[in-house]
Amino acid sequence: MSIQQRISLIIFSLLLAVGFYVSFGIAYEGKANAVSATRTIQKDRAAIIAPILLYHHIAEGEDSRYYVSPARFEQQMSLLYSLGYTTIPVSRLVEAMHDDTVILPARPLVVTFDDGNLDVYQTAYPIMQKYAFTATMYLVGKYLNSEGFVSTDQMREMIAAGWEIGSHSMSHVKLFEAQSLSDEILESRLFLEEKIDTPVYSFAYPFGIYDAMLAEKVKSYGYRAGLGLGTSSEHTLESLFYLSRIEIKQDTHLYEFNASLPWKSTDYLYLRMSN
Ligand SMILES: [Zn+2]
Repeated sequence: MSIQQRISLIIFSLLLAVGFYVSFGIAYEGKANAVSATRTIQKDRAAIIAPILLYHHIAEGEDSRYYVSPARFEQQMSLLYSLGYTTIPVSRLVEAMHDDTVILPARPLVVTFDDGNLDVYQTAYPIMQKYAFTATMYLVGKYLNSEGFVSTDQMREMIAAGWEIGSHSMSHVKLFEAQSLSDEILESRLFLEEKIDTPVYSFAYPFGIYDAMLAEKVKSYGYRAGLGLGTSSEHTLESLFYLSRIEIKQDTHLYEFNASLPWKSTDYLYLRMSN
C-alpha cells in the first residue's frame, strides 16, 4: 500500500467514525426527547377534566331542591348533547385516571343519580336514551325494591343499556352516626353485587359527609373511588376518594348549568330565554 493509499484509508475511517457518532448521537437524543414527551403526557393525565353531575329526582311536584323537572332535565341533556359531550361511567373515569393508555372521548361527562329513585327509571332513563347518554346510579341497599325506588329488574335493564351502579350505603345514615361502618360500606357493596349481579366499583357518601378516616374505609372495603360534592370538573388521583360532583338542583337555571360546565355554550340569548 502506498503512503497516499494509507492516508486515504485513514481519512475514510475517520469520516466513517464521525458519521456513525453523529447519527448515533441524533438517534440517542431523539430517544431522550421521546421519553420526556411521554413523561409530560403522564403528568397531564394525572388531572382529567370531566364534569360529574349529581341528580336525585327527575319529576314534577315537590318543592324541594332534590326535584328537577323533566322539562329542565331534558333541556340540560339537550344542551350537553349539542355541545358534544359523551357520557362515561364512573369506572371508566377512574380507569383513565390510573392508566394513561385509556382514551376518553373528547368531552367526557359523568352523570350520577343518588338514592335509586323510581322516577329516574321512569323519566330520566328514557330522556337520556334519546341522546345515547348513560349514567351511574348510587343505590341504597335497603331502598332497593321498595316503594318509590327502582327494582332489581329495572336496574338490570338499565345496566344492559350501559348504566353502572355504585353503592350509597345500606341505610342512608350519616356515616359518623352509623352503628357499623362495615355494614354501611362493605355489606352494601356485597349485597348490591349479589342482588344485581354486577360489580360495584364506587361509593357515594350519604349527604356528602366525609373525612380521611371514612375515605380510608371506603378504600379498604374494596372500592376504587368515592364520590362527594363540589364544584370542580378537574379530577386527580389525590381526589379519587372524594371526587367532586356538581349538584343540579330544582332551581338551577340553564344559564347557571352552562356556567358550571368546563366546555360551555356561548349562545347566551338561548340560555337566557330558557326556563
Ligand atoms: Zn342520598
